[in-house]
Amino acid sequence: MDRRRPHSHDRPRADRVHRRLGRIIQTRTQRAARPSKEAIVIIKYAKRLKKIPEYPFAELDRKKAALIEKGADVISLAVGDPDIPTPKKIIETLAREAANPANHQYPSYEGMLIFREAVARWYHKRFGVTLDPKKEVVSLIGSKEGIAHIYPAFVQAGDISLVPSPGYPVYNAGTILAEGTPLVMPLLSRNNFLPDFDAIPAEALDKARIMFVNYPNNPTAATASLDFYKRAVAFAREHDIVLCSDNAYSEITYDGYKAPSILEVEGAKDVAIEFHSLSKSYCMTGWRCGFAVGNADILAGLAQVKTNVDSGLFQAIQHAGITALDEVSDDMQEMLQTFTERRNLVVDSLNSMGWKLEKPKGTFYVWAPVPEGMDCVQFVARVLEEAHVAVTPGTAFGAEDEVKRFFRISFTLNSKRLEEAMERIGKLKF
Ligand SMILES: *Cc1c(COP(=O)(O)O)cnc(C)c1O
Repeated sequence: MDRRRPHSHDRPRADRVHRRLGRIIQTRTQRAARPSKEAIVIIKYAKRLKKIPEYPFAELDRKKAALIEKGADVISLAVGDPDIPTPKKIIETLAREAANPANHQYPSYEGMLIFREAVARWYHKRFGVTLDPKKEVVSLIGSKEGIAHIYPAFVQAGDISLVPSPGYPVYNAGTILAEGTPLVMPLLSRNNFLPDFDAIPAEALDKARIMFVNYPNNPTAATASLDFYKRAVAFAREHDIVLCSDNAYSEITYDGYKAPSILEVEGAKDVAIEFHSLSKSYCMTGWRCGFAVGNADILAGLAQVKTNVDSGLFQAIQHAGITALDEVSDDMQEMLQTFTERRNLVVDSLNSMGWKLEKPKGTFYVWAPVPEGMDCVQFVARVLEEAHVAVTPGTAFGAEDEVKRFFRISFTLNSKRLEEAMERIGKLKF
């Protein structure tokens, strides 16, 4: 164990906790073997932490850190965090509102009514969906916060949570922290990365309490039609499942494609909520501003958890969020133009090397198969070592066989760096 290894900011803490757990067990064994009365303080972690999957890429991280230490120019295409700055208008609102003492006290738990009204206006303008801002909108400190906190409201020991895989790791971890059992819904390329509801075992359905769907999808970049959402809503209604749609990438779409909201489906509000975030839509990942909308009773459960663990979203940020939702669109068109150019660059380059990829209609990811005869970890290690380019192995998002044959590229870097990265990968022989 190398204690000098720098903490990488995108490595989950689970990895460190697991190493500590290992040390504690060792310490206990030593203490048992030693007759001395010398007291050793033992920090005991709850068992549930051990159930969160261990971060499997410590070795890759070490290699990357070692390369950087040696002065290598490593290009990272591994993180989903846009490099484009937040539009000026949003920053100006924050600056103005941050100076107003009225915003310095605790905000309300559910969000200021004017923020929830802005969300309702945006939903109506964008999706044609009508929401009651008083009961059908809740502010979130980023949507990850809301996703993690929906689980304790609806899942307990013995319950099953339906989790898409590959997928955003929070669905799995949130379930485990709530003592529930995640049941994987594999997203396979032959099904266009949509879950097959008929493949869910009947006996699991009695215990299933909650399901997540996420389109445009991270990491596969797949999109879903309104027809898919209709089937999801019908399925959730039939089996009394809380249906959650994670629509973080609804605004990151290309070539004229517009992503639908699950709430456009008639009757969806009887069983569904949708999570949204300003992170990707307005390049505001660091701001922590999101919201959940839809079924009032489901939202009430989420809100009850939240009133006990957080105290709402800084009002100046809510004001800035209102500006984003009501007034910012030109900058976003420009952002999408930039992403479109980068997407084309990445996909065209990979295709000129022999891949056969279609251009994704949404997200800022390319999900591509690794060359024949390799698994994703081998491929990612070679690209890192020989091209000094970091990409994400599929197994960061799931454990199914198919996932092992894919890797994810994020095009959240400028075209010059992307081009350089593609050139370097192009020189490798697989
Ligand atoms: C980025 C992302 C989110 C949102 O993150 P927040 O910044 O917490 O709003 C949610 N779901 C997925 C799939 C994401 O990739």
